[in-house]
Amino acid sequence: MPVVDKTTHVGVVRTPDNSPTTAIQENLQKARRTLYSLMSAGLHGENGLDPETCIHLFRTYVIPILTYGLEIYLPSPNDIRPLEMFLKKVLKQILSIPVTTADPASFILSGLVPVEAIIHLRALSLFGNIALLDDSSIEKRLAYRQLTIHGHTGSSWFSNLAIITTKYELPNPMEILRDPVSKSQWKTVTLRAVYAYWGKRIKQQALTYSSLEYLSVGHYNPGKIHPLLRITETQTQSREVNRLPVKTKLVTGTYSLQSTRAAFNNLDVDPTCLLCKTSTETLEHFILHCTKLQHVRVQILCDIASACGENINFSQLCTSDQLRIILDVYSTVDVVHNKNTEYLAEIDRHTRRLCHALHCERKKLFALLPTRRRYGL
Ligand SMILES: [Zn+2]
Repeated sequence: MPVVDKTTHVGVVRTPDNSPTTAIQENLQKARRTLYSLMSAGLHGENGLDPETCIHLFRTYVIPILTYGLEIYLPSPNDIRPLEMFLKKVLKQILSIPVTTADPASFILSGLVPVEAIIHLRALSLFGNIALLDDSSIEKRLAYRQLTIHGHTGSSWFSNLAIITTKYELPNPMEILRDPVSKSQWKTVTLRAVYAYWGKRIKQQALTYSSLEYLSVGHYNPGKIHPLLRITETQTQSREVNRLPVKTKLVTGTYSLQSTRAAFNNLDVDPTCLLCKTSTETLEHFILHCTKLQHVRVQILCDIASACGENINFSQLCTSDQLRIILDVYSTVDVVHNKNTEYLAEIDRHTRRLCHALHCERKKLFALLPTRRRYGL
């Protein structure tokens, strides 16, 4: 009989040291293959399908492969770092934002949660199934034994699960074993607890990034895509898909303006606007003030004002409030309690139109500049 250092059991790679590293590497490889196979169907950033469909495909086909079988290992955050990196990188590609974008932005926009949360949800679901078994079953007897002897302190799977239930403020595992709840009820309880924990944590992280000051962080709702990325049925899909990347870059603070280039470039970049040469090219200057882009801006700003109607007197607002509406109209309202989503979607459509038109005009004017001037050196 050959001596092997790893073997696959029900699709999960097991090694003699019971370490999850090999299984994680295998999952990563399979998930990458699946992702590439879906690219021909349009699962990629610019020019692909709309972000909502892309995220749905990714959640349905790639994430289950990425996290397959890992609930039986309960790997540490350190072990799953490659998976977290893969998830963030792919999300940024789908959302057409640079890899340098603040990580919370990818979760807030996509409505996904980190890999750690997904693995915890699966482990809790597995435990819920064990609790529903008959008291004489091996798994349930083992659970009783481990939790009675070690509680939270041991190194067994059940002890680690006890730590997880404490983390998400769920009932004690022993209580669940004695008084199991139905499968659907347990799923609802765990999903709510895990999403609440990560929702709060990611929102707190996002508030520490100055680049995300215009993004409506409060609308992060795990499991649901951010309203900024939603394309309604009345909007022309292909046109909106084209316009979205400029908007997402602007709202996540990663659109390349002279002021950001001057702040992050080692070379001596001049932050002055290369088109009008009158002041620093900040977000506000680019979107609302640059005189060279005024002809593009005027009509669309009127359209935004008329879409806002009497509820928001757009033309009378100060520039910072106007900028907030243009970058993320949802940051000014409580979407959860606002029934008028069509009204907001219409404003959002015009703001996307404005950002895209300004971007195209800026690009066109840049192409006319001498090469050296184009880089602002
Ligand atoms: Zn300018």
